Amino acid sequence: MNKQKARSPSTPQRPSQGNRDFRNRTKRSTKEAVNQNIRRTALAGEADAPPCIILRAGREKSLLRRHPWIFSGAIERVDGAPVTGDTLPVRDAAGNFLAWAAYNPASQISARVWSWHEQDHIDAEFFRGKITSALAARSSLNLARDSNGMRLIHAESDGLPGLVVDQYDDVLAMQIGSAGAERWRDAIADILQELCKPVCIYERSDSDSRALEGLELRNGVMRGTLPTNVEVIENGLRFKVDVQNGQKTGFYLDQRDNRALTETLAHGKDVLNCFCYTGGFSLYARRGGAKSMLSIDASGDALRIAAENLANNGLDASHAEWQEADVFQALRTLRDQNRKFDLVILDPPKFAPTAAFAEKASRGYKDINLLGFKLLRPGGLLFTYSCSGGINEDLFQKIVAGAALDAGVDAQIVHHLHASADHPVLLSFPEGAYLKGLVLMVTG
Ligand code: SAH
Repeated sequence: MNKQKARSPSTPQRPSQGNRDFRNRTKRSTKEAVNQNIRRTALAGEADAPPCIILRAGREKSLLRRHPWIFSGAIERVDGAPVTGDTLPVRDAAGNFLAWAAYNPASQISARVWSWHEQDHIDAEFFRGKITSALAARSSLNLARDSNGMRLIHAESDGLPGLVVDQYDDVLAMQIGSAGAERWRDAIADILQELCKPVCIYERSDSDSRALEGLELRNGVMRGTLPTNVEVIENGLRFKVDVQNGQKTGFYLDQRDNRALTETLAHGKDVLNCFCYTGGFSLYARRGGAKSMLSIDASGDALRIAAENLANNGLDASHAEWQEADVFQALRTLRDQNRKFDLVILDPPKFAPTAAFAEKASRGYKDINLLGFKLLRPGGLLFTYSCSGGINEDLFQKIVAGAALDAGVDAQIVHHLHASADHPVLLSFPEGAYLKGLVLMVTG
């Protein structure tokens, strides 16, 4: 859920309040990245030698554990005259081969590993192999039941750093977030076209994290024609997807299983869905028999799509209110009105893209969770999520525990939640586990 570029008024907007501070931090870190880059030019090795990244002594450890990122500080020198996106061998201080990696001097992550095998050639065939494996994994996991939306490629965790491909029926949305994947962009689109035969491959390379990689923002059709209406069916529910301007690549596929869980627990309940976007959790709650639903988001356009989605599924629209508001404010108003709910969902945007933002983000999470707890009746359920890479599961649980304490409630964890299986987490890359959720029952 990266910060998005400015949108046309007809499309879902990022919030204008609530996490402005987090945005300023992002700007600062872009500047820091540029400064780091200037310092890094001092690392240039022998210009005439074959291009190669040589690590500092002892800094090969994370690669030996198969973590795919090489930070600028681990590099002793870069031989040859490689340019951004080139594939280079990475060697330890003694000259032993460690990996093939895509080089990006503009990023703090100076190289991302394509392969651990010296005999590999990083060419179109290599990408065909990786993409074929990712597709085969999805099909063997049998994820397509009652759904035609799926994350087909989940970046580092599928061995393709910086590449995300989401499927919405016969449209593919592709997002490139690394210089290495950028270099192979056309070859990757050709392979996807051949293997998946979509009517359109749409590129959504417009997240702000591209600035940290020194890459320009891009948003447009790469192959085929974008249908006027793109829709995804998820567990039998239909959702409109704004591939061009919606958040992420248009829809939050990662919450599929968690939304299904909500449906099973919603019967007869008064539901509050905060940060509802296009209504995902609300539609499931209504199908599960929710008595009333108040759904809040800062984006009026997302809310309009949400109301349409409810209608398009033939779901009852009575006692279903869509409120355009800043959740931080709205929760306070509801508290002051002494409103109570049986089920509260908090699925905010990414407050902490990296650990550097964790402290500020923690305060944001604590605030909304504290208010969420206060709005619950005894026996009520809080579904609370964090999709911040900079907040790990332990820290998130601690923040939520602190919120319950300050709210004066006792609560039990009844479910630990994660992204759906089409967002696998490479065991050697814990950063892949960005989405964590807890379902808590208020006991007193
Ligand atoms: N739960 C949704 C995804 C939520 S994404 C789903 O299942 O599809 C985060 C949402 O938070 C976005 O729709 C964004 O518009 C909204 N948002 C971000 N900051 C906000 C704020 N301060 N107040 C209200 N909504 C906000």
